Amino acid sequence: MKIPEFQKSLTDWFDANKRDLPWRKTRDPYRIWVSESMLQQTQVNTVIPFYERFLEIFPDISSLAASSVESVLKQWEGLGYYGRVRNLHRAARIVFEQYQGKIPREYEAFRKLPGVGEYIAAAVTSIAYQFTVPVIDGNVKRVLSRLFELTQPVNDAGKKKIFQDAVEEIFDASQPGKFNESMMELGALICRPNQPDCGQCPVSKHCLACIDGKVNRFPKKTQKPAVPEYHIVVGVIYREDKVLITLRKSDGLLGGLWEFPGGKVNKGETTEAACLREVFEETGLTVEMGSFFKTVKHAYTHFKILMDVFLCRFVSGDIRLNSAVDFKWIRIAELGDFPFPGSNHKFMHELPMRLDNCL
Ligand code: SF4
Repeated sequence: MKIPEFQKSLTDWFDANKRDLPWRKTRDPYRIWVSESMLQQTQVNTVIPFYERFLEIFPDISSLAASSVESVLKQWEGLGYYGRVRNLHRAARIVFEQYQGKIPREYEAFRKLPGVGEYIAAAVTSIAYQFTVPVIDGNVKRVLSRLFELTQPVNDAGKKKIFQDAVEEIFDASQPGKFNESMMELGALICRPNQPDCGQCPVSKHCLACIDGKVNRFPKKTQKPAVPEYHIVVGVIYREDKVLITLRKSDGLLGGLWEFPGGKVNKGETTEAACLREVFEETGLTVEMGSFFKTVKHAYTHFKILMDVFLCRFVSGDIRLNSAVDFKWIRIAELGDFPFPGSNHKFMHELPMRLDNCL
C-alpha cells in the first residue's frame, strides 16, 4: 500500500463528504468529550438532539460539575447506559477541582478520569488537541479488517493488538484528529457492516479484500452466546393520590435512576405472587393486587427482560428498603421530574389514564 496516497485519498474524501454534525463545529474538548460519551453504544441520529439539549443545560465543565447527579441523569434519560453520564459527571468534578476546570491535554492524565477508556481518550485528545494517537472503534476495526484482510475477529477484545498494529501502519501523524475522524466516517458511510459501497470508496485501490473480491468474508466475528431473557414483575403501588418510586444505588446497572419496585419471577411462581413477594421484599409493604397493567419487553447489552407490570393498592406496613437506597411517594404529575430507565418509560406514559380509576 502507498501510505501517503492512501492518507490523502481518505482525508480528501472526508473533507468533501463528512456529515454536518454538531460536534464537528467545535474543537472544544468538553463538547467533543460529551459527544463521544454519547456516541458509545448509541446511533448518531439518536445522539444529536440529546447532545444539543445537554449542552444547552450544561454548556461547560463547570456547569456540569456544579449540577446534581440526578439533574444530569435526567438529561441523559432515554439514552441508556447511564454509567457513561455518571462517570462524565464524576470526571467533570475532578477536572474542576484538580485541573482548574481545564481538561488535561495529556493523553495519560485524561485517560485516568472516570469513564475515559482508550477510545474516548484517543478521540478527544486527537480531535481537540491533535495528540498523535489513533482511534480504534467498531467502524475502524471493520475498515482495517477489510483493508488488510485481517482474520482476527473484530469482537474479540483479546486480539486488539492486531488492529493497533494495522492502524499504526497507515496513521497520519501530521493530522491525527482528521485521520481518526476520516476512518470512523468511512466505516459509518461507505465501509458499512452490510453491503459496503466499494464503488464509492476513496481507498478501494488500497483495499486487499476489495482487490481479491473477498469483501463479504470480512470482518471475521466470533459467535456470541445467546442473550438470556429474564422474566420480571413490577408493582405500581398507589396510596391515596400518590405512587411509590424507589431509587437504585448510585453505581451498577441503571445506577442513580428511580423506578417502580419489583424483581425476578421465581421458577414455578405466578406473576401475581411474584409481584406481591417482590414488593414486600424490596419495600416491606403489604399490598393488594389490583389489576394487570401491561407487559413490556426491553433489551440491555447482555440480557433481555420481559416485564409484567401490575397496579397494586397499598394495604399496610412501613417502608423498609432492601436494594434501593431511597423512596418517595409522588403524584403522577411529578413522574417527569425524576430520571427513570427506558423500560419504565415504556408504560409510565399510560399511567395517568389507568390510575385515574384507582386514585
Ligand atoms: S473498498 Fe470496500 S471493503 Fe475496502 S475499505 Fe472500501 S468500502 Fe471497505
